[in-house]
Amino acid sequence: MQVHGQCHCGAVSFTAKINPDEVLVCHCEDCQKLSGTSFRTVVPASSTDLVFSGETPKTYVKIGLSGARREQGFCGTCGSALYATSEGDGPKLYSLRVGVLAEKAQLAPKHQKFLRSAMPWLDTLPTLPGTQT
Ligand SMILES: [Zn+2]
Ligand SMILES: [Zn+2]
Repeated sequence: MQVHGQCHCGAVSFTAKINPDEVLVCHCEDCQKLSGTSFRTVVPASSTDLVFSGETPKTYVKIGLSGARREQGFCGTCGSALYATSEGDGPKLYSLRVGVLAEKAQLAPKHQKFLRSAMPWLDTLPTLPGTQT
C-alpha cells in the first residue's frame, strides 16, 4: 500500500510503498534510545518506491554491538525520526518509522523483535487508567 510520511514540523515529507504484513515492533535498546521511548514500530520500504520532498533529512550513523553501521534519518529542524537504512547510494532497503506515517492507525504490528530488552511493564498498559486526550 502507498503511505505518506511527514515530520512534525512539515519540513520533510515522503511517499513510499509498503506491505502492511511487514510492520513490526522493535524493543532493542538502540530503538529505545534513538526514539526516546519504550519501543519502535517500523516497516520496510525499498528506495525504489521511496520519494522524499522538502528538506533533505539529516543523518546519524549508529554502530551496533555487532559492528553493523546503520544510517538514521531524521528531520534537521524538528528532530522527528524518519527511517534507518544502510550507508551509501544505490537500491537499498529503508526501515520507515511508522509514527510519522499518515496511515499509522491501519498499520498494526505483525511481529516483534528484541523481546529480551522489552520493557517488563508493557503488559500492564491495557489495565492502566487513562484519558482520551
Ligand atoms: Zn521537521
Ligand atoms: Zn531496534
